[in-house]
Amino acid sequence: AHLARIDAVDEKVHAFLHIDREGALAQARAVDAKREAGEKLGPLAGVPLALKDIFTTKDMPTTVGSKILEGWVPPYDATLTQKLRDADVVILGKTNMDEFAMGSSTENSAYGPTGNPWDLTRIPGGSGGGSSAALASYEAPLAIGTDTGGSIRQPAAVTGTVGVKPTYGGVSRYGMVAFSSSLDQGGPCARTVLDAALLHEAIAGHDPLDSTSIDAPVPPVVEAARNGSVQGMRVGVVKQFRGEGYQAGVLQRFDESVELLKSLGATIVELDCPSFDLALSAYYLIAPSECSSNLARFDAMRYGLRVGDDGTKSAEEVTALTREAGFGDEVKRRIILGTYALSSGYYDAYYGSAQKVRTLITQDFEKAFEQVDVIVSPTTPTTAFPIGERADDPMAMYLADLCTIPTNLAGNSAMSLPCGLAPEDGLPVGLQIIAPAMKDDRLYKVGSAVE
Ligand code: GLN
Repeated sequence: AHLARIDAVDEKVHAFLHIDREGALAQARAVDAKREAGEKLGPLAGVPLALKDIFTTKDMPTTVGSKILEGWVPPYDATLTQKLRDADVVILGKTNMDEFAMGSSTENSAYGPTGNPWDLTRIPGGSGGGSSAALASYEAPLAIGTDTGGSIRQPAAVTGTVGVKPTYGGVSRYGMVAFSSSLDQGGPCARTVLDAALLHEAIAGHDPLDSTSIDAPVPPVVEAARNGSVQGMRVGVVKQFRGEGYQAGVLQRFDESVELLKSLGATIVELDCPSFDLALSAYYLIAPSECSSNLARFDAMRYGLRVGDDGTKSAEEVTALTREAGFGDEVKRRIILGTYALSSGYYDAYYGSAQKVRTLITQDFEKAFEQVDVIVSPTTPTTAFPIGERADDPMAMYLADLCTIPTNLAGNSAMSLPCGLAPEDGLPVGLQIIAPAMKDDRLYKVGSAVE
């Protein structure tokens, strides 16, 4: 049924870069056979899923939305991919994304944009716009995203779906193509809080193949999602998550959500987190710096594209020609920015100060979580904007992640879930819930209470 739905709508939505029809049907039949044989089934047996094209899959290409990896089929599965297979999930295919997860609209994909199913002329968010669009268009009931600065939550917000950035280290990064390794985090996307929890539980947990993976029990997210409540909880509202640039209808739906939390028994606490105003600036030094180092591996020798290898050119020339042809503008912009920020003489001024700001943000969160159990905010300052509107204005594009970035810098967990439609444009608005590290269960407890 989901393959038929994809056939009917994906030409217009363009959520998928690769559809694995045969593989999906074979997997579904294998689940049926197991069931008939009375074998033990995985927790998500037979449930179809759309996988962001940033996770390696040994039976499907992995492009990361880039020409530089066009047609590359990895020799191994990411840990997350393996966990999906162990859970008996049916992987439908790989979803569209901004190249190397750099963007907030999926317009930076080398394979063309994805449309927002609510209005195909608008962006589905990014970088994981393909995954969120697949959910909103009913092409898949579950999807996987990655969130470096908001790429799970911002697409969820603008498509009226649920997305969770787990605690940093909660879900393995092994086989997830690296953008900014100290920020990147894979996580679940779904249409309901409980669905997200079931997927979260299936993909989370310690992985010896990822040195930053947390060796502790997975927070009890499914139990929390089944027992939604905010009775007696202290909920923080941060003064910095409001002001100029926020759409009136977004703030209206957010304020209504705060009222709802109060009526359900939560106590609202006003918080001041002054360093959050610096989060975007710190992020756009740290993320490009790490990216400039991580993307050095795309040298035309090891993977994918190789341009100009006609036997007359040096390896250096082939590398340069391949990068010139294979990387898009935003990726090049970030490599240049990051290389500059890390260069000797500038390192302390740029990368060094950004790291100090990162510590201040972590401290602001620590102080906040002495007073509250969770923090709430709008997920994004505006609803989905038209395709093309911000394509030539990187600063305007970067502002889409104003509310999501502090969480990545601190390594906390956060969720976005729908909280109504903005009255002025009828488009979905996202409510963000933020919890301390390894308290991901609180997201689900609060999320399912207000869903
Ligand atoms: N939009 C942010 C960026 O462009 C975040 C992307 C992400 O979370 N992968 O870097």
